[in-house]
Amino acid sequence: MAPEIKTKMAKDWKGFNKRPFLIAGPCSAETEQQVMETAKQIAELDQVTVYRAGIWKPRTRPHSFEGVGVDGLKWLREVKQETGLMVGTEVANEKHVYEALKYGIDMLWIGARTSVNPFTVQEISDALNGVDVMVLVKNPINPDLDLWIGAIERVARAGITRLGAIHRGFSAYEKTVYRNQPNWQIPIELRRRVPDLPIICDPSHISGAREYLHEISQKAMDLNFDGLMIESHINPDKALSDSAQQVTPNDLKELLSRLILRSPVPSDPRLLDILGELRQQIDVFDDTLIDILEKRMKIAETIGQYKKENNITILQTTRWDEIIKKVMVNGQAKGLSKEMIDTIFKAIHQESINHQIKVMNDGSSGRSETK
Ligand code: PEP
Ligand code: MN
Repeated sequence: MAPEIKTKMAKDWKGFNKRPFLIAGPCSAETEQQVMETAKQIAELDQVTVYRAGIWKPRTRPHSFEGVGVDGLKWLREVKQETGLMVGTEVANEKHVYEALKYGIDMLWIGARTSVNPFTVQEISDALNGVDVMVLVKNPINPDLDLWIGAIERVARAGITRLGAIHRGFSAYEKTVYRNQPNWQIPIELRRRVPDLPIICDPSHISGAREYLHEISQKAMDLNFDGLMIESHINPDKALSDSAQQVTPNDLKELLSRLILRSPVPSDPRLLDILGELRQQIDVFDDTLIDILEKRMKIAETIGQYKKENNITILQTTRWDEIIKKVMVNGQAKGLSKEMIDTIFKAIHQESINHQIKVMNDGSSGRSETK
């Protein structure tokens, strides 16, 4: 079913006429002084549209700093009055929504630990019914695009049209370089399925470490994301949450100055011709790939037929081990990544097994003619 999401085009949003749409501010509001001082320095950059600060903090373990609560909303209201920045915070239940709206918060976001839970997202959406506020939905912590779209749909059904998504990466059990795995194909597929929905990248929570902020931000810009949400604190090393990933407003300025903003459409018409020609070649190769896969599956079916007649199991691990070793060596020698060879060949193998299972289980016992 096509997602039921009506959004105002990003360009109609305040601040969306500049790209990237920037949201910045501390992970958490800690003290009035920290909130105000960080905000003043961020306002001076003249590039940020929304000032963020977490008021209620979802923490992995208890006894960590869990946010200052309603006091922080007063500080955000003061930021808005003094700097003219829009202000935003995370809401995780209906009470948070009512409190935030009472203090004139302009933008609310639903965090990754909340967007996994349809009951809570519905509760928040009901509290938002008929309210004109900007709402951004972070991806759920698990890599489930339908769940992410479902959460966005719930908010859309409440009548919110200034609506967007935040890509903050996905949890993994294994330790990886980044704190959360980007799985870029998921926001890319979100863009394909809901083309008008603005997508903001949150490199702070993807990276978990400030040294990776620039490379992730650049990648997001190259993938044509609409904006960035970056955590910034006047004294990152002393931050009460997410210290390693925060940068000073000055470092944020430096990071932004190094971002290269490439255009999604080439301005030189000759380039369009060149790209068009190259894309034609890609289309031909894609068709060839499909033809080859079809042929490969036909052979797998014939093998399945022989296995059926001779009562042999479908899965023969030694044969599979041989194939994967061979294609790994071959593919890597041709500059293809291990990860891609692994993903593609696992999928091909699974598809072959599925075709063979179909042959095994179809009524006839004799080998049928292959086309
Ligand atoms: C945050 O933005 O501070 C936050 C808690 O993010 P996430 O929901 O992505 O963990
Ligand atoms: Mn944080």
